[in-house]
Amino acid sequence: MQTPSLLILGSGAAGCTAAIYAARAGLKPTLIRGNQPGGQLTITTDVENYPGFAQTIQGPWLMEQMEAQARHCGAEIVEDHIVKAELSPENPITRKSDNPIKLTGQSGQTYTAPSLIIATGATAKWLGLPGEKTFNGKGVSACATCDGAFYRGRDVCVVGGGNTAMEEALYLAGIAKSVTLIHRRDTFRGEKVLQERVKNHDKITTLWNHKVDEILGDPHPITGGVTGLKLSNTQTGQTQELKTHGLFVAIGHQPNTQLFTGQLDMDETGYLKTAPGTVFALHNGKSLPGIFAAGDVADPIYRQAVTAAGMGCMAALDANRYLESL
Ligand code: FAD
Ligand code: NAP
Repeated sequence: MQTPSLLILGSGAAGCTAAIYAARAGLKPTLIRGNQPGGQLTITTDVENYPGFAQTIQGPWLMEQMEAQARHCGAEIVEDHIVKAELSPENPITRKSDNPIKLTGQSGQTYTAPSLIIATGATAKWLGLPGEKTFNGKGVSACATCDGAFYRGRDVCVVGGGNTAMEEALYLAGIAKSVTLIHRRDTFRGEKVLQERVKNHDKITTLWNHKVDEILGDPHPITGGVTGLKLSNTQTGQTQELKTHGLFVAIGHQPNTQLFTGQLDMDETGYLKTAPGTVFALHNGKSLPGIFAAGDVADPIYRQAVTAAGMGCMAALDANRYLESL
């Protein structure tokens, strides 16, 4: 393996874009793919909102192309998943050394460099029902902006009671015939303004005190899809079946930042904090030189492939500036 000037953690849209820009800037980036090569877009099918493609494209194909482009530009791509990160934020001697960043992979390999782009993404939380895997991309989704258009004029459900669930329900109400918002309690935890909008929307019905017990449907890989849900009342235990074409799970996202606990600043959910308007990662409110955070790992709001790619570009340009300054 070459000695990299820049390590990039993650092979989603943010990591691959950072690798393309860094390689073209003449840096020697090494991108570590992680245990989900290609990132979240590899678990979806149709992508219709990534600019540049008039026809619907497939998520896994798009990510193959991004990685191939990064290789073509000269990025080194390594098969490993990082299990330990040592950024030494409070060790002035290590920080002043040539390679203050040390990562250890599950392969046992260690990686050192003066600069790091963290693009480890975020993982949607799921209910843990078997049907979520069976019907993923065929009626079950965790992203209304991504998959909502496939439910035009159809009946859909959203599960969750936070801001994300309410935003997903409102977004879907502009597309679908009807939206049933299923929440396990009798109050939302999200903002009042969203609660009002949900309450007043004539296409949205809220089913309070209910949980999803089973996803019903035809599991055929091509012609199959979701047909309904088995629900139960969390207060009375009473069960019912609800006909629906789609289930949007919106019970929160978990950013993949455990590696950096105590080393980088995070918000209360675990998203990496960055200096306002930049991709500079922070330690105790100050940017930690040479360390950048791009994509969903630092973005609790937009969480789109195109925004992740944009942040990956910013991180590579800033890493280049930082390395030139050394
Ligand atoms: P991710 O794609 O999450 O990639 C993270 C990368 O980090 C992975 O390669 C993983 O292997 C790596 N990694 C994690 N931990 C480690 C570690 N410890 N060591 C090394 N590597 C690590 N967006 C759209 O714009 N359009 C869509 O149509 C769309 N559809 C979606 C459908 C679904 C089902 C989902 C879940 C999301 C969808 N999104 C869509 C959102 C989009 O996928 C994300 O915004 C985008 O993938 C974020 O890219 P990222 O590079 O920040 O992170
Ligand atoms: P969240 O606030 O953690 O809410 C998750 C919701 O899912 C809660 O209502 C929770 O129920 C429910 N839930 C969790 N696990 C569940 C399970 N296993 N089964 C059924 N329901 C379950 O997550 P979020 O809505 O994704 O928001 C995350 C953060 O991003 C929040 O800080 C939010 O404010 C922010 N955000 C902001 C905006 C905005 O500003 N417009 C938009 C989106 C997100 P309980 O209520 O019973 O716990």
